[in-house]
Amino acid sequence: TLPKIAWIGLGIMGSPMSENLIKAGYDVTGFTLEQDKLDRLAAAGGTVAGSIAEAVRDADVIITMVPASPQVEAISYGPDGILENARSGALLIDMSSITPQTSVDLAKAAADRGIRVLDAPVSGGEAGAIEAVLSIMVGGEQADFDLAKPILQALGKTIVLCGPHGSGQTVKAANQLIVAVNIQACAEAVVFLEKSGVDLKAALDVLNGGLAGSTVLTRKKDNFLTRDFKPGFRIDLHHKDMGIVTDAARNVGAALPVGAVVAQLVASLRAQGDGGLDHSALLRAVERLSGA
Ligand code: NAD
Repeated sequence: TLPKIAWIGLGIMGSPMSENLIKAGYDVTGFTLEQDKLDRLAAAGGTVAGSIAEAVRDADVIITMVPASPQVEAISYGPDGILENARSGALLIDMSSITPQTSVDLAKAAADRGIRVLDAPVSGGEAGAIEAVLSIMVGGEQADFDLAKPILQALGKTIVLCGPHGSGQTVKAANQLIVAVNIQACAEAVVFLEKSGVDLKAALDVLNGGLAGSTVLTRKKDNFLTRDFKPGFRIDLHHKDMGIVTDAARNVGAALPVGAVVAQLVASLRAQGDGGLDHSALLRAVERLSGA
């Protein structure tokens, strides 16, 4: 029989991901803060829990997908948290994007209670979550990875064990650096092309067929063309991720000169009240700089 799943955090990513597990035949019990997301889970065939403790009590595998390190700590520790209420022997798969150190600390604290942990952050965005084609970067032990793999295969396409606890988060931090710099480059090209009077759609189509093409350009082209910045991936979350990669790189002595500039542009968007927009709104920051 399939392992019984508890899912904590049913947001933009967690809702479609948990629904893919239900479609694959898993029994999923979920908890999250918004009532409409709980209703959505019930409509999809999942079971709604009234608390984290209730959600995790009978679970073989617990999956978490919350915004950042403070939320992972809030749901994991304390009398009402996952570690206190899960069965010994359960596997906790945290798919949130958080600092590598938080993942390392969580794995240690969980081991004291007989709970195994994997960090398994994802890339591919909301579309990748819906289509179950996420790239999943995993940190932890091989035996736990082997156990998690069939579950992760219902959520993603590229699933790789990157190393010990925290390694998945380190790879995800690199992913966020690449994505931010890529969006920034596209945004600069968009402003340049429009100021030059070139047809933007034609330009982006031909650019995407050459070496300048990218998943970012494919997925964000419509946002650039229509200036619709509904998330997707919120600037607030990318701001968090630029902080993670900047800190982690400083700790190992890696210089990120271009990443540091893009991190500042993300921070400025947030300071101007655009933190709730999709990260393709970096176009707005470039437009402001260019008076466009
Ligand atoms: P979101 O804000 O849409 O969802 C977060 C969910 O966590 C919410 O439903 C909220 O209720 C829940 N939550 C927060 N605190 C909680 C608590 N104490 N108890 C129970 N539930 C709690 O965020 P998202 O866009 O789904 O992102 C989740 C994670 O995935 C983040 O770490 C993000 O960086 C990462 N991520 C997001 C994307 C994307 O495109 N949105 C892509 C890859 C990775």
